Amino acid sequence: MIRERHLLGPGPSNPYPEATRALAEPLLGHLDPEFLRIMDETCDMLREAWGTSNARTLPLSATGSAGMEAAFVNTVHPGDVVVVAVNGLFGQRMTDVAARCGAEVVAVDHDWGQPVDVDRVLSAHPSPAIIAAVHAETSTGVRSDIAALGAGKGDALLLTDAVTSIGGIELRADDWGVDIGYAGTQKCLGVAPGLAPFTINDRAFDRRVETPRSWYLDLGMLGGYVGEAGGRAQRTYHHTAPTAMVASLHAGLTRILDEGLEAVWARHQAVGDSLQAGLEEMGLELFAAEGHRLPDLTTVRVPEGVDSAAVRRELLERHGIEIGAGAGAYATSVWRIGLMGHNARPDAALLVLAALEDVLGRS
Ligand SMILES: *Cc1c(COP(=O)(O)O)cnc(C)c1O
Repeated sequence: MIRERHLLGPGPSNPYPEATRALAEPLLGHLDPEFLRIMDETCDMLREAWGTSNARTLPLSATGSAGMEAAFVNTVHPGDVVVVAVNGLFGQRMTDVAARCGAEVVAVDHDWGQPVDVDRVLSAHPSPAIIAAVHAETSTGVRSDIAALGAGKGDALLLTDAVTSIGGIELRADDWGVDIGYAGTQKCLGVAPGLAPFTINDRAFDRRVETPRSWYLDLGMLGGYVGEAGGRAQRTYHHTAPTAMVASLHAGLTRILDEGLEAVWARHQAVGDSLQAGLEEMGLELFAAEGHRLPDLTTVRVPEGVDSAAVRRELLERHGIEIGAGAGAYATSVWRIGLMGHNARPDAALLVLAALEDVLGRS
């Protein structure tokens, strides 16, 4: 088992014990029939986690950022108008990735801490090829309304970042009209970092770039892992699948689906609510707009005169708790506290509140 330390930062969270144990199992070869079974089951479980019936749903062998890259590089044709909702670091990053793919980017900027303004995004351009938004902005702790974007997208494709929402808060890709989605393993799925759960529907796949500028992330070549609806996939060699990571994701997803997706969402919500109420009782001010706060990633303002880095260091050294610094312009004025996956437990919320109270009392 990993060294006992409570990892509450927005980065790799403390994995579910099942996912950690799977990493210690003997390795399977990537063409072993047992591995192919695990991969197929993993894709089935990912469909449930995404809320999709898309045949093309799979874990890309790369981190969440590569999922972002795969989403854009396969769907942006040179000169396409891509409207990007920017309400934090990851939305900002989308504009960079889309531009590198040759998009004409229409960025719709928001104040950090605010949710995406659906009307402003939908009216930013009369006929965009793609509308892109982050469901759960990890940089600010804000949830945005993807369903409303899907309802108003018209002919555009809706591209969604679900890295910090999958396995943590309600996510219904098909019902909400998400055409292309990517996620990561290390946030609420409670698995080590390194895979990008990805989904794309037929509508988006049919419009894809025939020869994308990435060889590795060309979804047209990943057919061997994707399979055809109904039929069994022909496995052609594309790259060596990271078998240990896929087995770990399989274990993490099994853990989540055994508990039940809705129960997992409710657990994250209850734990986030109690952390946020406790922080306010301590006199701290939450950063994200009320009514749009993520339960799994809480942002809180660093009190006036308090040394942000010193508090984070004390938390780690005295209590074994890691919280995140703020992102971008809020690096030293906001803290980010993740209670995701295995850490979304009432005792973890109490622990972080008590530790913060102790450290702030000393400073
Ligand atoms: C963490 C994160 C990413 C990037 O994922 P990596 O696995 O770090 O590459 C992208 N988008 C959001 C919203 C994230 O929180």
